[in-house]
Amino acid sequence: MPTETFEFQVEARQLLQMMIHSIYSNKDVFLRELVSNASDALDKLRLESLRDDTLGADVSDLHIDLEADPDARTLTVRDNGIGMSHDEVVQLIGTIANSGTAKFLKELKEAQGAGAAEGLIGQFGVGFYSSFMVADEVTLLTRRAGEAQGTRWNSTGEGTYTIETVEDAPQGTSVTLRLKPVDDEDKLYDYTSRWKIKEIVKRYSDFITWPIRMAAEAPAQAAEEEEGAEPGEAPAPETVNSMKALWARSRSEVTDEEYHELYKHISHDWSDPLDTIRMQAEGTFEYQALLFLPSRAPQDLFSQGHKRGVQLYVKRVFIMDDCEALLPEYLRFVKGVVDAQDLSLNVSREILQQDRQIQLMHRRLTKKLLSTIKDMMSAQPEKYATFWQEFGRVVKEGLLSDFDNRDAILAACSFATTHDQEQPTTLQQYVERMKEGQEHIFYLTGESRAAMENSPHMEAFKARGVEVLLLTDPVDEVWVEAVPGFDGKELRSIAKGEADLDTEAEKEEVKAEREKQQQEYAGLLTWMGEQLGEDLKEVRLSTRLTVSPACIVSDTNDVTPALQNLYRAMGQDLPATKRILELNPGHPLVSGLRAAQAERGAAADLAETAELIYGMALLAEGGELRDPSRFTRLLADRLERTL
Ligand code: ADP
Repeated sequence: MPTETFEFQVEARQLLQMMIHSIYSNKDVFLRELVSNASDALDKLRLESLRDDTLGADVSDLHIDLEADPDARTLTVRDNGIGMSHDEVVQLIGTIANSGTAKFLKELKEAQGAGAAEGLIGQFGVGFYSSFMVADEVTLLTRRAGEAQGTRWNSTGEGTYTIETVEDAPQGTSVTLRLKPVDDEDKLYDYTSRWKIKEIVKRYSDFITWPIRMAAEAPAQAAEEEEGAEPGEAPAPETVNSMKALWARSRSEVTDEEYHELYKHISHDWSDPLDTIRMQAEGTFEYQALLFLPSRAPQDLFSQGHKRGVQLYVKRVFIMDDCEALLPEYLRFVKGVVDAQDLSLNVSREILQQDRQIQLMHRRLTKKLLSTIKDMMSAQPEKYATFWQEFGRVVKEGLLSDFDNRDAILAACSFATTHDQEQPTTLQQYVERMKEGQEHIFYLTGESRAAMENSPHMEAFKARGVEVLLLTDPVDEVWVEAVPGFDGKELRSIAKGEADLDTEAEKEEVKAEREKQQQEYAGLLTWMGEQLGEDLKEVRLSTRLTVSPACIVSDTNDVTPALQNLYRAMGQDLPATKRILELNPGHPLVSGLRAAQAERGAAADLAETAELIYGMALLAEGGELRDPSRFTRLLADRLERTL
């Protein structure tokens, strides 16, 4: 069989270059990554042989071997797991499937300084390629269970790799690293050293549920160090990990670091998790759960193929990855392990969705996570802020899908507010600050805090010091429509309906004045309604403006343009709804137009002024003009006349 030479995919090549030039300072983690892959391969083989009894694979002694050769300076990680076919090697090892890779690499290029780059790579995780931090050549020999021929892959990480077919490869995978020279400066330890290897395994992979074996110390060497060892004895293998399931041990026995390493194994994230949550349910239906909140949102959190769900174990035996049935979609970022005592070992994904015990666990895990997030809010505000920054917009999706937990979700939410430039608020805090006579919780949705703060809709609220929530996530447009309120208070958009901020006493006071204005402006309103009728439902006087001449609002029950865009993006077109133009009678442009219109009627320049006012109102809310070039021309003409 000839040796074929392949080129790495562009992204893979870039990533490899970074590994070779070692931008990650903790090189020890390469071994964690290789052991993690080997452990996954053993899990897969065990499951596949349960499903397919024609596979013919020996599953009686599944394990991982570590073999160091100090003279040749090689280290081999070998498993007798599922292995890979020729095509899988090309596909899995030659390319990077992660959908966020391109974006990640771009960020990495732009990252300032080694610290930032290190943080990014930690967040991304690079798996197998991390071998090239410590090795200048890597050889992978693998044979897939059930197949006759094996495949040898080899590369120095410099752009190409070779593949050849091998006739007598053992089933499973071995990865052999030709190690770079030891280098104190670059923290390249002697990875052929027994104690170094043992130390790394203990630190990062102790909980792996398969035995990780190493040849016991050579007798001659042992004899020197340890009195009474028999010389001439053949080296026996030693299992270097304890294999203890962390979730089954009591809290006091496990260090935070151990939890973190389990998280890294499960999530393929190289950073520590933000929080670790333990649960133990006793009684008739017993299970243990160890859940983690990551410290950063993955790149693909909002993409279709995002894997979600925790690992399911039954009585310490791994059953499946990404068990979606255990958590709702809006908690899809949660990683972890759930180990149930009373489930069948060959339970399938289809059965899981129906299973009563799974549903019960789903409910409890959801409640526990929501209460943990809420508690974090007061007990660890900084941690909560990080969490909310990364995952808040995902959690809020739950307001649309999980009616049973709506209150619990709302209680865990926080929002930017006009009350404080920096600190977000909870709805509870908002309600406690509500002014005498204020009946509703006011909010505005928009693209950015700055744009909303300066929006004309905000003027009367600013003038009166009424707090407004500033909602910028796309999902906010949707849930505010679906959630009726909080604590008996309705949620009200300040860009919808009439702004009714006057107290009863004030209403009496200003009543006469408003009526007078109404009469005065009746002619202008009707005329403008005729001029702009195509786009507008109504032209009316505003009580929400103090500075701007005009603004656009939606009718109380109408769909806002932002929501309309959102539906459109999801392929659902709603009929366009007409909106309302509100005029500020206190603005000289508006009062001037009224006077001019009363005097000169339907003059062409006045119609243009009306059009310009409408255009300005649209722009002020970040909306789009129907005919931007016409608007620009009209405006340029006007400006010209002022010179
Ligand atoms: P990740 O483990 O994050 O998916 P890797 O680059 O480490 O990324 O590995 C890519 C893929 O190659 C794995 O998902 C797995 O399918 C396959 N693979 C890696 N190592 C092994 C192994 N020892 N046995 C079988 N398959 C493996």
